[in-house]
Amino acid sequence: MARHVLVVGGAGYIGSHMVALLAERGHAVTVLDDLSSGHRDAVLAGELVVGDLGDRALLDALLGGRRFDAVMHFAARIQVAESVAQPARYYRNNVAATLTLLEAMLAHGVGAFVFSSTAAVYGEPQRVPIDEDHPKAPVNPYGRSKWMVEQMLADLEAAHGLRSVSLRYFNAAGADPAGRLGERHDPETHLIPLVLQAAAGRREAVTVFGTDYDTHDGTCIRDYVHVADLCEAHLLALERLWAGAPGGAFNLGNGNGFSVREVIETARRVTGRAIRVREGPRRAGDPARLVADSRRAREVLGWRPRHDALETIVAHAWAWESARA
Ligand code: UDP
Repeated sequence: MARHVLVVGGAGYIGSHMVALLAERGHAVTVLDDLSSGHRDAVLAGELVVGDLGDRALLDALLGGRRFDAVMHFAARIQVAESVAQPARYYRNNVAATLTLLEAMLAHGVGAFVFSSTAAVYGEPQRVPIDEDHPKAPVNPYGRSKWMVEQMLADLEAAHGLRSVSLRYFNAAGADPAGRLGERHDPETHLIPLVLQAAAGRREAVTVFGTDYDTHDGTCIRDYVHVADLCEAHLLALERLWAGAPGGAFNLGNGNGFSVREVIETARRVTGRAIRVREGPRRAGDPARLVADSRRAREVLGWRPRHDALETIVAHAWAWESARA
């Protein structure tokens, strides 16, 4: 059945891929995005409303004017270092504005919410792979802002029946397999696009943040998950909420860890280009190893990642990156 979904942050990296997928599956989409980091031309379907999710009057007009079957929320600030330097900005954008959105949903009777959470809610892992019951001990304001919202969601469900799924992403990467969309952060801070910009000659070199970690090659290990697979999981989460099943929190990762050096090697193979590497100090707040146990998403949501090979993730990101001017 076709539904109408409000995608907040639908002009951003993951949100724009979500909008395209929803439209492909026949759903109507409205995007709310302030274009602070998103791109107008990344919204491939539906109507784009330019505005702030913390603007209650705007939300009242939007949610009062038409019937939405769900809200998906991708609009957040995501840089750990910035969150340490400017915590208020993170609590304002990621927590306070999200609360305004949730209050507006309650006021207008929209009862299904899919929230972009993060592996950063776990902090320094006590065990790897990390399952959802691992203690939540975020080590920076970014992770805390996401965990605060997850806790608010549990309270709002208990009190008001607002049903939600929180999806804890590990390292979102890759690009639309059809080549229409990709990652365009400014400034870019993520490893794979930075490595590919070095391969494309748009960046002189890539710096490895720390070579003395307790891992097989001394560099950090992460679980890279394809953006298209993330979006499929969001769709399954929506369908679960629409079917009346309970929500909850789910990890999204492939369960495979790759070191920074392995990512760079893979990029050299995929691109056939030389990539200059510098070795630098550790970046504050980076755990040595973050790998997901995503059994719950597989078993409960029926999630089956299709692009789980790092080669594929890097190849899709490269197709996007190398096509840019
Ligand atoms: N990283 C790096 N050089 C860079 C950017 C990232 O060595 O220029 C490392 C970073 O320390 C981490 C991994 O690559 O171990 C992934 O970082 P990213 O910022 O992509 O994602 P995060 O793990 O912070 O969500």
